[in-house]
Amino acid sequence: MVKYRFLILRRIFQIGILILFFLGNASWISVLGKSHIVYQGNIGGFDYEGKNLAIGKTKTTFLPILQGNLSSSKIFGVIPMSDPLGALELILAGGVLAWDIYLGLLLVIVVYGVFFGRAYCSYVCPLNLATDLAGYLRRITGLSYLPKQIQLNRNAKYGVLFLSLLLSFVFGVAVFEMINPIGMLYRGIVFGMGIGFLGVLVVFLFDLLLLKNGFCGHICPVGAIFSLIGKYSIWRVKYDFDKCTRCMKCVQVCSENQVLHMVGKHSSAVADMACIKCGRCIEVCDDKALQYGIVNLIKRR
Ligand code: SF4
Ligand code: SF4
Repeated sequence: MVKYRFLILRRIFQIGILILFFLGNASWISVLGKSHIVYQGNIGGFDYEGKNLAIGKTKTTFLPILQGNLSSSKIFGVIPMSDPLGALELILAGGVLAWDIYLGLLLVIVVYGVFFGRAYCSYVCPLNLATDLAGYLRRITGLSYLPKQIQLNRNAKYGVLFLSLLLSFVFGVAVFEMINPIGMLYRGIVFGMGIGFLGVLVVFLFDLLLLKNGFCGHICPVGAIFSLIGKYSIWRVKYDFDKCTRCMKCVQVCSENQVLHMVGKHSSAVADMACIKCGRCIEVCDDKALQYGIVNLIKRR
């Protein structure tokens, strides 16, 4: 259990957030002493309200922890959070957004920019459940050891980000949001799997058969924007050269292993903005040479 403490923590966050959205988008009503759920929310861009289940119902008021969806949500019905890519696409597309979307965007930039960095990818994004499974299956089936099927530069995701924003501006619609597999999976889990399942399957098969960490590490513009936002975030993985026995397990297990270039060379914090702060490297290090910590950005340690 302790060995997989960050894996368990990440699953608790990822699944817990989905459950909170599920509960937050439903209104509990009490019918003849039994609880039923009436769904309210946004499905594929359309507002939706389910049918009341009985005449003479009494609605129980409760304060939902999370309402909305991964694009735009409210914590305790008050604190807005906005998906930075979706919000920027809509702004560039010429959309006039409600003030709380702008406030949510600002809050996300501050919270992730100062502290969490790209941890969104490993602790929040539900697609990580599918890509982690693909990575795990690659390892246990030996697919990881086959020659690379395709070559793709890890910086391609910044190109996809730029293109998404440019095309949103040119065509006046939020381009990536229309094909975003994260939103597809989120809606599928919270509201029931539909055609969006295909988008998730494509990502899963791409990661499983063609490229290790293919979508998140090379293509996803959401990961790219959180990398940029979190470039100077202070919560990082720190490496201690003196404790390290150079077993290289951390490099083998890391989905973005280029960020561990200092291992075996010198003590340093993981400064590369591509690190998703998943904690896998910490879990596999038997010598406690890697730990989460707060960095001094001037000394980079
Ligand atoms: S897993 Fe730990 S001991 Fe092994 S190379 Fe990485 S930091 Fe060093
Ligand atoms: S360096 Fe560690 S925390 Fe960062 S992505 Fe790699 S395994 Fe995860």
